[in-house]
Order: sequence, then structure tokens, then C-alpha cells
Amino acid sequence: MRTVAVIATGGTIASNAAATGGPVNAGVAAYVLLDSLHERPEGIDLKVEDFEVKGSYALDLPTVHRLCGRIDALLADPTIDGIVVTHGTDTMEETAYLADLIVKSDKPVIFTGAQRHAGMPDTDGPRNIADAIRCAVSPDLIGQGAAILFEGEIHAAREVTKTHTSRVDTFRSAGLGKIGEVDAGNVYVYRRRAFREVLSVDHIDEGVEMLLLGLGTSPALLDYCQTLRRSGVVLAAFGRGNAPQGFAVSIQRLTEAGIPVVIASRCAEGRVLPVYGKDSGGRTLIDAGGIFCGSLQPVKARLLLSVLLADGVDIPTIREAFQKHI
Ligand code: ASP
Repeated sequence: MRTVAVIATGGTIASNAAATGGPVNAGVAAYVLLDSLHERPEGIDLKVEDFEVKGSYALDLPTVHRLCGRIDALLADPTIDGIVVTHGTDTMEETAYLADLIVKSDKPVIFTGAQRHAGMPDTDGPRNIADAIRCAVSPDLIGQGAAILFEGEIHAAREVTKTHTSRVDTFRSAGLGKIGEVDAGNVYVYRRRAFREVLSVDHIDEGVEMLLLGLGTSPALLDYCQTLRRSGVVLAAFGRGNAPQGFAVSIQRLTEAGIPVVIASRCAEGRVLPVYGKDSGGRTLIDAGGIFCGSLQPVKARLLLSVLLADGVDIPTIREAFQKHI
């Protein structure tokens, strides 16, 4: 008999509307979620616990760090083969990526949720949970880091993004695709990751901001991050990693003040690369001290930076670490 621990954190999968058309709120206990499964995967013993009962938009970094600690504690038990975390979809890719970065164990850690709440007749939660449990005992998912199982698809935490506000097939790994799928109760894994380095931290830095750049936006908010002494900033910049005029000067000022500025892209696919010059092409941004983050999406780059800053490392070390993780 194999054993999976199911940790419930809330989200739509654990939500209901008290009255028709009224607000939807998390409140369904973990054991009720398991009772709702249409078919329980055979030969798998389930341990279940409630960790939080919140929409994932209301979670914060200390809570999610604590969740990763709980995952590690459970996986240290040799009788537990893998973990399923039920979680709101809004920030699921972020919690999953944080688990990918800091959970020490090699055993599968599978996140899942629902787009249609537990009170809907066609809620997608029960099937997702059953499939996630199957993934959590799959030998092919050992050593793959954290993953999201949703609507039959398995996606690597580092690559996946919520792409649609309401459809059940919302999770996609743009340009890369799923790493596997669950079909008729069987788990198929098609590709394995090339690199995983676990980072060990006793907290997460909560002072990293993220700014979405638009045509002609000013660097005023970036400058304000320095005034506020924030720990770091991620810019969701244009295309290959370019910004409107004025950003390079501000990046240089923040970098000299010891505040790292990471350049990610607003594009869903591809890598940032310092190509263009003048004010504030990517080449100029890197010369000013900006740290390019390859193919990492802005929200993931923010988490990597938050973990690195918690370790107290300096900007050159952060730049080196980004080279490895991108
Ligand atoms: N829409 C979200 C969900 O699917 C709400 C949340 O993230 O908690 O769960």
C-alpha cells in the first residue's frame, strides 16, 4: 500500500456560495473534499490535513513558506510517498514554484485545484484531486520537482501559468508544453527536467516588488521602491527585456544602493536577452546593473529573488544564481 498526504489550503476547490449569486468563499474541509471523489484511486492510503482555508489571492509569503516546511516534514516520513496540495488557482503556480525551489525531498509534490467551485454540479475538483493523487505516487515524477495537475495535464511548476480566468483547462506551459498527463487513471510522463537545485532558507524576503511596464510608463514607481527601501524589484519589461526611457538611470541608482533590479519579459514565451542599446534598451539596462532572468516569468523571478535575498547574498551572487536557474 502506498500513502499520499493531502494538504488542503482553500481555493475554489474548497469553496461554496452560501446563497445563489452570493459571494463564493472557501470553507470546505479536507476530508469533505476527499469524500467527494467519484472514485478513490485504488491501493493508495490517504492522510489528510487542513492547512489553511483561504482563497489563494489572500495567501502571503510567510504562510506559503510554512506550507513548504510542512511538506518537507511530511515527506521526511518514509511511509509517505508523495504530497497533494489543494490550492486556489490564482497563485497556485507561485506556491508550486516556491515548493520547487525550497522543498528538499525528491518525492512528488503535486498541486491541484478547481475552476468551478465545490457547490457546482460540474465542479472539476474531484477528478483533479483523484488524478493528482495518482501523480503523487508515480515513480516517474520522483526528482521532477513540484508540478501542477489540472484537467488531466501535468505541468512543471517552473514553467506553468494560469492563462484563462475561468476555463477548466487554464494551466499552460507556454512554448514548452505539459510534462505529462493522466489518462483513464494512468500517469504518463513525457519529459524530465534537466536541472534542479534546492535552496535552503529559514524565511522568505517579503520586500520584493514587481512592476508591469507599459508604453511610456515612467520610472517613478521604481524610484519610489528605493525611497521605501524595498529589498528588490522585478520589472515585467518589453519583449527581449527593454524598458521605456529613463529606466536605465533608475536601475543604476537602485543597484548602487544595493537593491537588485531583475528584468523579466511581459511576453508569455521566450527569453530576455540584452540586445538593444540607447535609453533604455536591454543592453543599456544590463550595463546599468539590471539582472536578466532568461525564460523565468516575472512572478517566478520575484520568488527566486525573494528566496535569494532571504539568504542575505549580495548582487553579484544573485546575478550568478539567476544564471543557473533561468
Ligand atoms: N479563482 C481562484 C481559484 O480558482 C480563487 C483562489 O485562487 O483561491 O481557486
